[in-house]
Amino acid sequence: MDKNSSPPDCTFCGKNLSVSVLENIAKNGSTYNISECSECEIALTHPFPSEEELTRLYACGNYRTNKGTRFGPIIEFLILLGRILKRRSINKYVKPGKILDIGCGRGLFLDVMRRGEWRTIGTELNGETASYAKKVYDLEILTGDIIQHQLPAEGLDAININQVLEHLHNPKEVLAECYRVLRKDGLLIISVPDLRSPQFTLGKENWFLLDLPFHLFHFTEEGLSKLLERSGFKIRQI
Ligand SMILES: [Zn+2]
Repeated sequence: MDKNSSPPDCTFCGKNLSVSVLENIAKNGSTYNISECSECEIALTHPFPSEEELTRLYACGNYRTNKGTRFGPIIEFLILLGRILKRRSINKYVKPGKILDIGCGRGLFLDVMRRGEWRTIGTELNGETASYAKKVYDLEILTGDIIQHQLPAEGLDAININQVLEHLHNPKEVLAECYRVLRKDGLLIISVPDLRSPQFTLGKENWFLLDLPFHLFHFTEEGLSKLLERSGFKIRQI
């Protein structure tokens, strides 16, 4: 690792990122490193891609097709089935009310929830994808970051963050905002790629879900649990 790529401090606790996970991974004409905080058990991609670089990378044709899809029709169908099963699981823990999907993409998950009598709202950073969800599914979608929209306190029964937290530059602040807008016995459903998974141990920089430089953070189960607890949430494995 050269001098210019020395790890930044941990976003969550401010200490040195003392564990080098991967070094000098070439992607899209840039080189990235991943280092982990031994205390928080969360790793960071560094150097952080600039705002301009992320805008260019997320543009249509790079991250998604211009219909907002990322995969072929069979995988897309399996994803839809998975969402229907997920609604069934959510309904076991909380009665249909209002659900927020952070990073809702084309709105497919919200559409599935609405068919199950949930009221829905989504946030999506990509303006074109948000427009697609509004136009095709007639959903209420807020473009941008959840924090900028200042939703009412404790106004939501459930929040879904599916494979999104690792993309955000401010996961700690977003989780704090989720805690504020979720009602006290509400449900936060969250999933992230696991840096301790056998797939990463075997695949290293070739692991599909490493997804550099789109993934700015790399969570472990322990690290995510600690972060959620620090944000006020009680953990329940489902
Ligand atoms: Zn830390």
